[in-house]
Amino acid sequence: MFSPLIDQLIQSLRVLPGVGPKSAQRMALQLLEHNREGAARLATALNNAVEHVGRCPQCRTLSEEALCSICANPRRDAAMVCVVESPADVIAIEAAGTYSGRYFVLHGRLSPIDGIGPSELGMDQLEVLLRSDALQEVVIATNPSMEGEATAHYIAEKVKAKGLKVSRIAHGVPLGGELEYIDGGTLAHALSSRREL
Ligand SMILES: [Zn+2]
Repeated sequence: MFSPLIDQLIQSLRVLPGVGPKSAQRMALQLLEHNREGAARLATALNNAVEHVGRCPQCRTLSEEALCSICANPRRDAAMVCVVESPADVIAIEAAGTYSGRYFVLHGRLSPIDGIGPSELGMDQLEVLLRSDALQEVVIATNPSMEGEATAHYIAEKVKAKGLKVSRIAHGVPLGGELEYIDGGTLAHALSSRREL
């Protein structure tokens, strides 16, 4: 129905979350008909981001620098590390504005069925962080889903084995709620009323 290039564009747009065949078609035609400049900017931005954004070697969040801006900031409290599932969680906690420690990003949660085990979540890198002299407490802020809780438990055991304090973020949200959708006030409260594990 469409020429190969248009068809390829439509298929490519379907990688976006929540975009089905109809929306992809609408987006492709809209761009080609009415906004070629915007389309070119999108293509360049995608290219640049895919080429230059990697993971911070220390905390694993997305970063285009050798170290991300949080790890590189000497004013961040090295005594505390907050373990989260995704870079979006880092942004949510930063927006809440009350946390001054560092982070560790798992990029997922333990899920044996999907083939996500400790090594996929960067546990080797977390172990390196746990050996840091300055570190005193690990705050686990995985989501309150079943897999998030299993992940929290797994990490808590590792941290306790090192003789460090470990705590779990308190959640004022329904089970399975995603951290990034909680408002800043609730998130700040969840952090301050974390409980020791
Ligand atoms: Zn970092």
